[in-house]
Amino acid sequence: MKKALVCGAGGFIGGHLVKKLKADGYWVRAVDLKNNEYSKSPADEFIVGDLTDPTVVEKVCDLPFDELFQLAADMGGAGYIFTGENDANVMHNSATINLNIANVACKVGVKKIFYSSSACMYPAHNQEDPNNPNCQEDSAYPAAPDSEYGWEKLFSERLYLAYNRNYGLNVRIARFHNIFGIEGTWQGGKEKAPAAVCRKVAETPEGGTIEIWGDGLQTRSFLYIDECVEAVQRLMASDFTGPVNIGSDEMVTINQLAKMVMTVANKNLTIKNIPGPLGVKGRNSDNNLIQTKLGWKPSKPLTEGLAKTYTWIKQQLDNKQK
Ligand code: NAD
Repeated sequence: MKKALVCGAGGFIGGHLVKKLKADGYWVRAVDLKNNEYSKSPADEFIVGDLTDPTVVEKVCDLPFDELFQLAADMGGAGYIFTGENDANVMHNSATINLNIANVACKVGVKKIFYSSSACMYPAHNQEDPNNPNCQEDSAYPAAPDSEYGWEKLFSERLYLAYNRNYGLNVRIARFHNIFGIEGTWQGGKEKAPAAVCRKVAETPEGGTIEIWGDGLQTRSFLYIDECVEAVQRLMASDFTGPVNIGSDEMVTINQLAKMVMTVANKNLTIKNIPGPLGVKGRNSDNNLIQTKLGWKPSKPLTEGLAKTYTWIKQQLDNKQK
């Protein structure tokens, strides 16, 4: 039986990954500062601990793991990353976690390690044109991410690659592009655009108005969580180190996203575009490399994932009101 360690298992992607690994027959140890918010983790062990503490990292790595998935990070949506208020914490906490994990994983001989980077590490100047953003993997340098979160991701990519070169740490690195779905943060300030839009649409009565940050013409693509987990597992099973994009290439404007959610909800609402924290003007996953290396591309349209996510968020709201 394969043994996996999932760091950041109490979060959105980590929670889904643990479920999938268990379904695949792995023995799983999960670690996070907190338990999963929306369902009980099926992990064989769930350790609540702070991975910025090297003694915690040593303790959680005390078994011969076949696979370590490093998803823990101090992160959130635009309201958390782009206001500037959390920059020091984001950089310090996430970099410390990665420094600890790379070092200990190497010392104890973890067989393979996955690191979750982000499309936020791509240069801002390549993402000025909302209709034609460049997020090809080899466009990363000269580096100019638009947030400290992106700089930390780039630093940690380089950290894992350096451990790979110097100490033979067997790493796989993916750059996630906006992953969304059920059991993701949907309120409280750390939620991302799809969840925020679903919540706003669910809360607003027919004929009402929802507020969307920016002019709404900024573009993004969104990948449903199940497809993300599948791509991560494919990357882990391959010989390809990466970094490689894991995302959808179905690019939409944020106003289009809002309209898609309204269609799913069968509601007619007015969009009011207001000033708010924004990232780059355009971003889309370039999937050429992952298709060539892993033969993978997303299989489902955006609207399908939005329908599942909307239904789930509506349920959360209904439960809250009961
Ligand atoms: P998330 O915030 O739901 O999960 C991250 C988890 O890390 C949280 O549960 C948090 O408690 C945990 N964590 C933070 N600091 C910790 C610490 N000191 N010790 C232990 N645990 C700690 O985020 P997510 O959406 O599941 O993202 C997982 C990874 O993927 C992150 O590294 C994130 O940067 C990356 N990523 C996500 C997206 C996305 O769209 N969701 C996009 C790009 C990159």
